[in-house]
Amino acid sequence: MTRTEPTSARVAIVTGGARGIGLAIARWFLARGQRVALLDIDGETLDRAVAALAQPGQVLGLHCDVGQPQQVEAAARAVMQRFGRVDALVNNAGVAVFKPVLDTSFEEWRHVMATNLDGAFLCTQVFAPLMVHGGAVVNIASISGLRASTLRIAYGTSKAALLHMTRQHAVELGNVGIRVNAVCPGPVETEMARQVHSPAIRADYHDAIPQGRYGTPEEIANAVGFLCSEEASYVNGQFLAVDGGFDAAG
Ligand code: NDP
Repeated sequence: MTRTEPTSARVAIVTGGARGIGLAIARWFLARGQRVALLDIDGETLDRAVAALAQPGQVLGLHCDVGQPQQVEAAARAVMQRFGRVDALVNNAGVAVFKPVLDTSFEEWRHVMATNLDGAFLCTQVFAPLMVHGGAVVNIASISGLRASTLRIAYGTSKAALLHMTRQHAVELGNVGIRVNAVCPGPVETEMARQVHSPAIRADYHDAIPQGRYGTPEEIANAVGFLCSEEASYVNGQFLAVDGGFDAAG
């Protein structure tokens, strides 16, 4: 089948795009002339981000909890009304609870699963059918999804499941021209890291990362942008660790 590429600029959806890694990913697309819809649960931070990006015609901010089907469907309608197409989806919205196994409540477990796993499932379910010219999905997982470590029963399990979902989606969507990959960031200095990385965790990372430092949101965005681009046109169902060598060092 020959795909006809429409002439209007490409559109990327970035969930959890109001700050941190998601905001850096939005900047990556905008810097390359693409349009961006930011979906975020935090309306105030979202408004500030949209204003800071200062490209009103190119950016759409949508207040949306990715774990709520009706809100995701409403966001998709708003994107199509405003931009008329979807080319990439970055499932970046995430929450972290770092607690010992036996201290993690069922509510905390469900909250993490609802955002990190249900959110990516729902957004892919709703946005993939809109990628009528083909497209790319990138799931932001974590090195905590690649290996088990203390305090991460909910977070690590949600990210490991997200990695398997990446492969399931890659297998099922590849034949309609949609590639699905995952990026596994190592520690990145964001609000989330400030909330859950204790001095002990920071010291462990410092010793275990060959490059000896945290990553930046921009370094994660570069990998995500590559996976969404034509340069990655035959990359499908893969996990790309962007972690300063942490995973390689075992
Ligand atoms: P931040 O907490 O800084 O930003 C995440 C954004 O997502 C926030 O604006 C947050 O809003 C929003 N969000 C949370 N829940 C929802 C929801 N249900 N629907 C829509 N938006 C939501 O996180 P980071 O930028 O650090 O992380 C981005 C992604 O990268 C996450 O998936 C995270 O797990 C992953 N990651 C991060 C690492 C790090 O060290 N920073 C390492 C490895 C992976 P609010 O603040 O109101 O919750």
